[in-house]
Amino acid sequence: MVMKWMDEMRRYFLLFFLLVFFALPAGSWGFFGHRHINYHAVFLLPPEMIGFYKANIRYLADHAIDPDKRRYAVMEEAPRHYIDMDHYDNNVQTLPMKWEEAVAKYSEDSLQAHGIAPWWIMVMQGRLKKAFEARDPNMILKTSADIGHYIADVHVPLHASSNHNGQKTEQHGIHGFWESRLPELYAEKEYDLLIGKAGYLVNPSQWIWQRVQESAHAADSVLKIEKQLSHRIPSDQRFSYELRNGMVMRQYSSTYAHQYHRKLNGMVERRMRSAIHGVASFWLSAWIDAGQPDLDQLKASAK
Ligand SMILES: [Zn+2]
Repeated sequence: MVMKWMDEMRRYFLLFFLLVFFALPAGSWGFFGHRHINYHAVFLLPPEMIGFYKANIRYLADHAIDPDKRRYAVMEEAPRHYIDMDHYDNNVQTLPMKWEEAVAKYSEDSLQAHGIAPWWIMVMQGRLKKAFEARDPNMILKTSADIGHYIADVHVPLHASSNHNGQKTEQHGIHGFWESRLPELYAEKEYDLLIGKAGYLVNPSQWIWQRVQESAHAADSVLKIEKQLSHRIPSDQRFSYELRNGMVMRQYSSTYAHQYHRKLNGMVERRMRSAIHGVASFWLSAWIDAGQPDLDQLKASAK
Protein backbone atom coordinates (compact mmCIF):
# COMPACT_ATOMS: atom_id res chain seq x y z
CA MET A 1 0.00 0.00 0.00
CA VAL A 2 2.74 2.39 1.05
CA MET A 3 4.81 1.35 -1.96
CA LYS A 4 1.89 1.96 -4.25
CA TRP A 5 1.33 5.37 -2.73
CA MET A 6 5.00 6.24 -3.16
CA ASP A 7 4.92 5.05 -6.71
CA GLU A 8 1.92 7.20 -7.35
CA MET A 9 3.61 10.20 -5.74
CA ARG A 10 6.72 9.65 -7.78
CA ARG A 11 4.65 9.65 -10.92
CA TYR A 12 2.97 12.92 -9.93
CA PHE A 13 6.29 14.52 -9.14
CA LEU A 14 7.70 13.48 -12.49
CA LEU A 15 4.65 14.84 -14.26
CA PHE A 16 5.00 18.06 -12.33
CA PHE A 17 8.67 18.45 -13.26
CA LEU A 18 7.94 17.79 -16.89
CA LEU A 19 5.18 20.35 -16.79
CA VAL A 20 7.48 22.89 -15.19
CA PHE A 21 10.13 22.20 -17.79
CA PHE A 22 7.95 22.42 -20.85
CA ALA A 23 5.41 24.94 -19.63
CA LEU A 24 8.02 27.54 -18.71
CA PRO A 25 7.21 30.53 -20.87
CA ALA A 26 9.54 31.22 -23.74
CA GLY A 27 11.02 34.23 -21.99
CA SER A 28 14.14 35.99 -23.04
CA TRP A 29 17.82 35.69 -22.13
CA GLY A 30 16.57 34.51 -18.74
CA PHE A 31 17.14 36.46 -15.55
CA PHE A 32 20.87 35.77 -15.69
CA GLY A 33 21.43 37.02 -19.24
CA HIS A 34 19.30 40.15 -18.91
CA ARG A 35 21.00 41.11 -15.63
CA HIS A 36 24.40 40.66 -17.22
CA ILE A 37 23.54 42.72 -20.28
CA ASN A 38 22.21 45.74 -18.35
CA TYR A 39 25.05 45.49 -15.85
CA HIS A 40 27.88 45.37 -18.38
CA ALA A 41 26.34 48.11 -20.52
CA VAL A 42 27.04 50.62 -17.74
CA PHE A 43 30.82 50.28 -18.21
CA LEU A 44 30.62 51.43 -21.83
CA LEU A 45 29.26 54.86 -20.91
CA PRO A 46 31.22 58.14 -21.12
CA PRO A 47 32.45 59.89 -17.93
CA GLU A 48 29.45 62.27 -17.90
CA MET A 49 27.05 59.33 -17.60
CA ILE A 50 28.91 56.58 -15.83
CA GLY A 51 28.72 58.07 -12.32
CA PHE A 52 24.92 58.14 -12.26
CA TYR A 53 24.57 54.73 -13.92
CA LYS A 54 27.20 53.07 -11.72
CA ALA A 55 25.55 54.41 -8.58
CA ASN A 56 22.37 52.66 -9.73
CA ILE A 57 23.87 49.59 -11.35
CA ARG A 58 22.09 47.25 -8.98
CA TYR A 59 18.72 48.71 -9.86
CA LEU A 60 19.45 48.38 -13.59
CA ALA A 61 20.45 44.73 -13.18
CA ASP A 62 17.66 43.80 -10.77
CA HIS A 63 14.98 45.37 -12.96
CA ALA A 64 16.29 43.96 -16.23
CA ILE A 65 13.45 41.45 -16.37
CA ASP A 66 10.57 43.72 -15.33
CA PRO A 67 9.16 43.66 -18.88
CA ASP A 68 8.96 39.85 -18.76
CA LYS A 69 7.12 40.04 -15.43
CA ARG A 70 4.62 42.45 -16.97
CA ARG A 71 3.74 39.86 -19.63
CA TYR A 72 1.49 38.14 -17.10
CA ALA A 73 -0.33 41.28 -16.05
CA VAL A 74 -0.51 43.42 -19.19
CA MET A 75 -2.09 41.96 -22.29
CA GLU A 76 -0.28 44.23 -24.76
CA GLU A 77 3.10 43.36 -23.30
CA ALA A 78 3.92 40.05 -25.01
CA PRO A 79 4.25 41.27 -28.66
CA ARG A 80 6.79 43.89 -27.54
CA HIS A 81 9.41 41.19 -26.99
CA TYR A 82 9.64 39.58 -30.42
CA ILE A 83 8.92 39.74 -34.13
CA ASP A 84 8.16 36.68 -36.26
CA MET A 85 10.39 37.53 -39.19
CA ASP A 86 9.56 34.28 -41.02
CA HIS A 87 6.08 35.77 -41.44
CA TYR A 88 7.79 38.44 -43.56
CA ASP A 89 10.04 35.98 -45.45
CA ASN A 90 12.94 36.92 -43.16
CA ASN A 91 13.35 40.16 -45.04
CA VAL A 92 13.40 43.42 -43.09
CA GLN A 93 13.33 45.39 -46.36
CA THR A 94 9.61 44.62 -46.70
CA LEU A 95 8.84 46.22 -43.33
CA PRO A 96 8.45 49.98 -42.95
CA MET A 97 10.58 51.24 -40.06
CA LYS A 98 7.92 53.87 -39.26
CA TRP A 99 5.07 52.41 -37.21
CA GLU A 100 2.32 54.40 -39.00
CA GLU A 101 3.52 53.17 -42.38
CA ALA A 102 3.70 49.60 -41.12
CA VAL A 103 0.12 49.88 -39.80
CA ALA A 104 -1.05 51.23 -43.15
CA LYS A 105 0.62 48.32 -44.94
CA TYR A 106 -0.31 45.41 -42.64
CA SER A 107 -2.98 46.66 -40.15
CA GLU A 108 -2.26 46.99 -36.46
CA ASP A 109 -3.92 43.67 -35.56
CA SER A 110 -1.68 41.77 -37.90
CA LEU A 111 1.46 43.54 -36.67
CA GLN A 112 0.55 42.85 -33.05
CA ALA A 113 -0.11 39.20 -33.85
CA HIS A 114 3.43 38.73 -35.16
CA GLY A 115 5.30 40.88 -32.66
CA ILE A 116 6.32 44.54 -32.61
CA ALA A 117 9.70 44.57 -30.79
CA PRO A 118 11.69 46.85 -33.15
CA TRP A 119 8.99 49.54 -33.22
CA TRP A 120 8.45 49.30 -29.48
CA ILE A 121 12.13 49.90 -28.81
CA MET A 122 11.81 53.22 -30.62
CA VAL A 123 8.80 54.15 -28.44
CA MET A 124 10.94 53.40 -25.39
CA GLN A 125 13.81 55.45 -26.81
CA GLY A 126 11.44 58.43 -27.13
CA ARG A 127 10.46 57.95 -23.48
CA LEU A 128 14.07 57.74 -22.37
CA LYS A 129 14.90 60.99 -24.16
CA LYS A 130 11.91 62.65 -22.44
CA ALA A 131 13.05 61.33 -19.06
CA PHE A 132 16.50 62.89 -19.62
CA GLU A 133 14.90 66.18 -20.73
CA ALA A 134 12.76 66.19 -17.59
CA ARG A 135 15.85 65.31 -15.49
CA ASP A 136 13.72 62.70 -13.77
CA PRO A 137 16.17 60.20 -12.23
CA ASN A 138 13.60 57.52 -11.46
CA MET A 139 12.10 57.64 -14.92
CA ILE A 140 15.61 57.58 -16.49
CA LEU A 141 16.46 54.44 -14.52
CA LYS A 142 13.16 52.66 -15.09
CA THR A 143 13.19 53.35 -18.83
CA SER A 144 16.90 52.50 -19.13
CA ALA A 145 16.31 49.13 -17.45
CA ASP A 146 13.27 48.45 -19.64
CA ILE A 147 14.82 49.40 -22.98
CA GLY A 148 17.85 47.28 -22.08
CA HIS A 149 15.53 44.30 -21.87
CA TYR A 150 13.88 44.85 -25.26
CA ILE A 151 17.18 45.52 -27.03
CA ALA A 152 18.58 42.31 -25.53
CA ASP A 153 15.50 40.40 -26.69
CA VAL A 154 15.88 41.27 -30.36
CA HIS A 155 19.39 39.83 -30.23
CA VAL A 156 18.00 36.38 -29.48
CA PRO A 157 17.54 34.58 -32.80
CA LEU A 158 14.43 32.74 -31.63
CA HIS A 159 12.79 36.08 -30.80
CA ALA A 160 12.76 36.66 -34.56
CA SER A 161 11.06 33.37 -35.43
CA SER A 162 7.52 32.06 -35.04
CA ASN A 163 9.08 28.70 -34.15
CA HIS A 164 10.26 30.43 -30.99
CA ASN A 165 10.41 27.40 -28.76
CA GLY A 166 10.98 24.75 -31.40
CA GLN A 167 7.29 23.85 -31.14
CA LYS A 168 7.00 23.37 -34.92
CA THR A 169 10.02 21.08 -35.14
CA GLU A 170 9.75 19.01 -31.96
CA GLN A 171 12.47 20.96 -30.22
CA HIS A 172 10.49 22.13 -27.20
CA GLY A 173 12.72 23.86 -24.70
CA ILE A 174 15.31 25.08 -27.22
CA HIS A 175 14.41 28.70 -26.46
CA GLY A 176 15.59 28.51 -22.86
CA PHE A 177 18.47 26.26 -23.89
CA TRP A 178 20.02 28.91 -26.13
CA GLU A 179 19.25 32.04 -24.14
CA SER A 180 19.34 30.88 -20.51
CA ARG A 181 21.18 27.59 -20.09
CA LEU A 182 24.14 28.43 -22.35
CA PRO A 183 24.82 31.92 -20.93
CA GLU A 184 24.49 30.55 -17.39
CA LEU A 185 27.09 27.90 -18.14
CA TYR A 186 29.53 29.96 -20.19
CA ALA A 187 29.11 33.74 -19.83
CA GLU A 188 31.15 34.18 -16.67
CA LYS A 189 33.71 31.54 -17.51
CA GLU A 190 34.37 32.21 -21.16
CA TYR A 191 32.75 35.30 -22.60
CA ASP A 192 34.65 38.51 -23.07
CA LEU A 193 32.11 41.13 -22.06
CA LEU A 194 34.47 44.10 -21.89
CA ILE A 195 33.46 45.96 -24.99
CA GLY A 196 35.03 49.33 -25.75
CA LYS A 197 32.76 52.32 -25.61
CA ALA A 198 29.15 53.10 -26.44
CA GLY A 199 28.66 55.01 -29.68
CA TYR A 200 26.12 57.65 -30.70
CA LEU A 201 23.53 56.16 -33.04
CA VAL A 202 22.52 58.55 -35.80
CA ASN A 203 19.73 56.16 -36.80
CA PRO A 204 18.85 53.89 -33.85
CA SER A 205 15.86 52.42 -35.66
CA GLN A 206 18.04 51.23 -38.53
CA TRP A 207 20.53 49.77 -36.04
CA ILE A 208 17.78 47.73 -34.40
CA TRP A 209 16.39 46.46 -37.70
CA GLN A 210 19.85 45.29 -38.71
CA ARG A 211 20.07 43.27 -35.48
CA VAL A 212 16.59 41.85 -36.18
CA GLN A 213 17.74 40.79 -39.63
CA GLU A 214 20.78 39.04 -38.14
CA SER A 215 18.62 37.28 -35.56
CA ALA A 216 16.19 36.13 -38.23
CA HIS A 217 19.02 34.61 -40.25
CA ALA A 218 20.63 33.00 -37.18
CA ALA A 219 17.35 31.39 -36.03
CA ASP A 220 17.71 28.82 -38.78
CA SER A 221 21.15 27.70 -37.50
CA VAL A 222 19.99 27.69 -33.87
CA LEU A 223 17.31 25.15 -34.77
CA LYS A 224 19.18 23.16 -37.41
CA ILE A 225 22.33 22.62 -35.36
CA GLU A 226 20.38 21.35 -32.34
CA LYS A 227 18.30 19.08 -34.56
CA GLN A 228 21.39 17.48 -36.08
CA LEU A 229 23.00 17.05 -32.67
CA SER A 230 19.84 15.49 -31.22
CA HIS A 231 19.98 12.77 -33.90
CA ARG A 232 23.47 11.82 -32.79
CA ILE A 233 22.99 11.90 -29.02
CA PRO A 234 20.35 9.73 -27.31
CA SER A 235 17.82 11.52 -25.15
CA ASP A 236 19.07 10.00 -21.86
CA GLN A 237 22.35 11.82 -22.50
CA ARG A 238 20.69 15.00 -23.67
CA PHE A 239 18.87 15.69 -20.43
CA SER A 240 19.74 15.69 -16.76
CA TYR A 241 17.93 16.47 -13.52
CA GLU A 242 19.32 19.26 -11.41
CA LEU A 243 18.24 20.96 -8.23
CA ARG A 244 17.37 24.59 -8.89
CA ASN A 245 15.74 26.92 -6.38
CA GLY A 246 14.80 23.93 -4.26
CA MET A 247 13.15 22.11 -7.16
CA VAL A 248 14.38 19.23 -9.26
CA MET A 249 14.30 20.40 -12.86
CA ARG A 250 14.79 18.49 -16.05
CA GLN A 251 17.17 20.35 -18.29
CA TYR A 252 19.67 19.91 -21.07
CA SER A 253 22.72 18.12 -19.68
CA SER A 254 25.99 20.00 -19.42
CA THR A 255 27.64 17.55 -21.85
CA TYR A 256 24.95 18.21 -24.44
CA ALA A 257 25.11 21.95 -23.75
CA HIS A 258 28.87 21.83 -24.26
CA GLN A 259 28.52 20.19 -27.67
CA TYR A 260 25.74 22.53 -28.79
CA HIS A 261 27.67 25.56 -27.59
CA ARG A 262 30.76 24.48 -29.55
CA LYS A 263 28.76 23.94 -32.70
CA LEU A 264 27.20 27.40 -32.40
CA ASN A 265 30.74 28.68 -32.72
CA GLY A 266 30.59 31.76 -30.49
CA MET A 267 27.09 32.83 -31.53
CA VAL A 268 25.72 33.35 -28.01
CA GLU A 269 28.73 35.42 -26.99
CA ARG A 270 28.54 37.52 -30.17
CA ARG A 271 24.85 38.24 -29.64
CA MET A 272 25.41 39.06 -25.99
CA ARG A 273 28.25 41.44 -26.79
CA SER A 274 26.19 43.18 -29.44
CA ALA A 275 23.27 43.48 -26.99
CA ILE A 276 25.52 45.11 -24.36
CA HIS A 277 26.94 47.52 -26.90
CA GLY A 278 23.46 48.31 -28.21
CA VAL A 279 21.98 48.98 -24.78
CA ALA A 280 24.80 51.38 -23.83
CA SER A 281 24.61 53.11 -27.21
CA PHE A 282 20.84 53.62 -26.92
CA TRP A 283 21.25 55.13 -23.43
CA LEU A 284 24.02 57.39 -24.70
CA SER A 285 22.08 58.46 -27.80
CA ALA A 286 18.95 59.36 -25.80
CA TRP A 287 21.06 61.42 -23.41
CA ILE A 288 22.80 63.27 -26.27
CA ASP A 289 19.48 63.85 -28.07
CA ALA A 290 18.10 65.31 -24.83
CA GLY A 291 20.91 67.92 -24.75
CA GLN A 292 23.30 66.07 -22.41
CA PRO A 293 21.76 67.02 -19.04
CA ASP A 294 24.09 66.98 -16.02
CA LEU A 295 23.48 63.55 -14.47
CA ASP A 296 25.81 64.02 -11.51
CA GLN A 297 23.26 66.36 -9.95
CA LEU A 298 20.65 63.64 -10.16
CA LYS A 299 22.58 61.02 -8.26
CA ALA A 300 21.17 61.79 -4.85
CA SER A 301 17.49 61.70 -5.69
CA ALA A 302 17.40 58.41 -7.58
CA LYS A 303 15.98 55.43 -5.69
ZN1 LIG B 1 11.51 39.61 -22.99
